[in-house]
Amino acid sequence: MNDSSRQAKFLKDYAPPNYLIDAVALDVSLAPKAARVASTLTIRPNPEAAKTGQPLVLDGEALTLQRIALNGKEFAPGDYTLSPGSLTIEAPPAESFTLEVVTLCDPEANTELSGLYRSNGTYCTQCEPEGFRRITYFVDRPDVLAVCTVRIEGDRDTTPVLLSNGNPVASGDIPGNRHYAVWHDPFPKPSYLFALVGGDLASIHDTFTTAAGRKVALAIYVEPGKEDRCGWAMESLKRAMRWDEERFGLEYDLDVFNIVAVSDFNMGAMENKGLNIFNDKLVLARPDTASDADYASIESVIAHEYFHNWTGDRVTCRDWFQLCLKEGLTVFRDQEFTGDVRMGPVERIITARLLKTHQFPEDAGPLAHPVRPASYIEINNFYTSTVYEKGAEVCRMLQTLLGRDAFRKGLDLYFERHDGEAATVEDFVSAMADASGRDLTQFMRWYTQSGTPELACSLDYDPHRKTARLKVSQVVPPTPGQSSKEPMHIPLKVGLIGANGDELPLKIDGEELAEGLLEVTEREQVFEFQNVPAPPTPSLLRDFSAPVRLTTNLNPDQVEFLMMHDSDPFNRWQAAQTYANNLMTAAARSGLDTGPVTGTEAGRLAKALATTVRDETLGAAYRAEALKLPSESDVARELGHDVDTDAIHAARGALRAKIGDTIGDTLAEIYQAATPPGPFSPDPESAGLRALRNAALDLLTATETDAAIDRAMRHYREASNMTDAIIALSILSHLQSPVRDEALEDFYKRWQDEPLVLDKWFAVQARATRPDSVETVRGLLGHPKFSLKNPNRVRALIGSFAQANPSGFNRADGEGYRLLADQALAIDRFNPHVAARLLGAFESWHTLERRRQAHAKAALESLANQELSTDSYEIVSKTLAGT
Ligand SMILES: [Zn+2]
Repeated sequence: MNDSSRQAKFLKDYAPPNYLIDAVALDVSLAPKAARVASTLTIRPNPEAAKTGQPLVLDGEALTLQRIALNGKEFAPGDYTLSPGSLTIEAPPAESFTLEVVTLCDPEANTELSGLYRSNGTYCTQCEPEGFRRITYFVDRPDVLAVCTVRIEGDRDTTPVLLSNGNPVASGDIPGNRHYAVWHDPFPKPSYLFALVGGDLASIHDTFTTAAGRKVALAIYVEPGKEDRCGWAMESLKRAMRWDEERFGLEYDLDVFNIVAVSDFNMGAMENKGLNIFNDKLVLARPDTASDADYASIESVIAHEYFHNWTGDRVTCRDWFQLCLKEGLTVFRDQEFTGDVRMGPVERIITARLLKTHQFPEDAGPLAHPVRPASYIEINNFYTSTVYEKGAEVCRMLQTLLGRDAFRKGLDLYFERHDGEAATVEDFVSAMADASGRDLTQFMRWYTQSGTPELACSLDYDPHRKTARLKVSQVVPPTPGQSSKEPMHIPLKVGLIGANGDELPLKIDGEELAEGLLEVTEREQVFEFQNVPAPPTPSLLRDFSAPVRLTTNLNPDQVEFLMMHDSDPFNRWQAAQTYANNLMTAAARSGLDTGPVTGTEAGRLAKALATTVRDETLGAAYRAEALKLPSESDVARELGHDVDTDAIHAARGALRAKIGDTIGDTLAEIYQAATPPGPFSPDPESAGLRALRNAALDLLTATETDAAIDRAMRHYREASNMTDAIIALSILSHLQSPVRDEALEDFYKRWQDEPLVLDKWFAVQARATRPDSVETVRGLLGHPKFSLKNPNRVRALIGSFAQANPSGFNRADGEGYRLLADQALAIDRFNPHVAARLLGAFESWHTLERRRQAHAKAALESLANQELSTDSYEIVSKTLAGT
């Protein structure tokens, strides 16, 4: 790795490309060790470029150049310069010209899974962000958009299926048992959206007719024998296509839409135009192999990638700093879709929980960066929770501030202005501002300032004037590279609740407040509500209207009141979470004293939860969420410093046992009653009933009585679907009991030849919070079914351990850190992308108590002394430096 690749790149240095490529014709001849790519590029100088007569620099990596010709004239070696990352032509013509380049690449040796590679015999590609340069020489940046025609040639036997972007235009046989297919994509697109697949694949087919009457042929390609697991993905696709027409007026634009599932994939899925490539875990589902959670993620990721057809493909990003422009917006769209096809408030809870668990720590740690980063060393490291999930919250805040209609008008205007172009965040926000007539200058800070804003609210009531004054102050904490911040434009949804639980009218300056929406724009602000007859309880940040950390002056009685009476389902859930979190942080702070989680207040929490779960008007999925206590990571985040993960684990375990014990009868009744009728169906209502029943089982088993453990084991044995089986296995996996080993062994015997199910078996053990979890994971690294080369298996074992087992990973003797450092280093040698992702688990090391900090630091320093990829170098060096 040369040092120049470790230089940071800056948004402020953006310059338009010197050359544009209007058309690409690729001729790809597939072969395992030497795929031949002949590319014909139609190139012209860019009229927008700063200077004319510049050299043409094409990106290229791991390629063997065979031939190069300009306007048909062969180049001699002196006519161009080759370096490890580029091919330079010093003085190309000043008018449009044609460049022909023939190269070889080695799909089998491609362990980075970027560019063209082979996974279980199938050729496939991954080009975002910079993989196309590993297929052919190109100006590999997102603001160079070309119309592309691809001819693929391969063996008839091993690659009967040949796919690429766009529409199929020709196919036929070639002597020597070969054949070819030609694809043409009429929509100009950047190179990162290029895709190609060649393999022996089975498929299922369907059709979709768009609102305008275009008949689209849909297909999903998988390994032969797995066709029976594609039905849910296909249904989800059709639902998403219809929803995007109805909600945003966006229709599909090609004659075919293809999805391919492969088992070796660095990401979840990729939105290549007309040919989405998926990690097979996000496509394949059958009741006995996939859980409700799998069905839900398949539905949302299929929708997400499909929605990119407009937000990402038709309008793309000018440069990689603008990644949130496609990702934040598309995540927002898939969240809206899921909220509409499932239960809105439950989806909001799941989204907020995910944000707080993953994005808040990122924002508070050494890797903090704005939703639109100002600099990066390796763009692969910026596919983060901040860019995706916080980026989605920023879009949601725009919709909240402007209203749904104006937001939709803004989006329409954005497409009208930028269809077929590479755009910026400013383009998007300007369209929103112009369509709504709102000034969004201050709002832009959400894209440029990192860190989670802290919002402090307190309410005072004046009985004489019958007014309630809400004081709001905001602080955005300093983050690496940004020591002082300006105030943000924050939508704050509020309600006032009277003593009998009624919503009180919200009147400010004689005007009724629409939807309870306040706009916080200053560091300190006071909102005075008039005509408030009696002291109200404020319900603040309803529906989680902004991604901020909220502190209030509410006392435990008021929080308990909200837990019972708040009409906003999100805040009713949040009140119980706050209450539980307060108890657990108090217990964790006091070390071994479990008083706060076993005393009277814990009993009150348990009873409030019982009231909520008995209320059938609330919906089963919602009641299931109510029973899930804040995670150990949530408690660690609340503590913020001197974190002792053992104390947190003890506090949470004690509170769960206390609840299981206090409301055991209610939970047992729910467990008995909440069985969905009939055969398995993944629909949201049935899934909600299973979730409720399993949440009750989880709290009941927390008491660890013999009867409870027997019940959990019975649940495992009687499970008729993967949801029940995997939840029972996960509940049992934490126990020090022979039934744990029995269940794990049984599960392995049954599923050892099903890779995706076996991933669950590895993950369950990696997440199990037991004193010997480090040794368990070390043992599994040597399991014959474990391989460092398969990203799914690596994430299942090492990723689950580092990200979802806080007490195991942060074990006081530092062994968890050493395990991660060793494995990440081994993976870094052949797949830097996956290694750097794993190393993100160190992001909160500075919040730990001193002994753990020292161990974590030592592990990071041992890595820093090694030869690392650019990806891992950036994560390690920033994690060490930014404290
Ligand atoms: Zn995406």
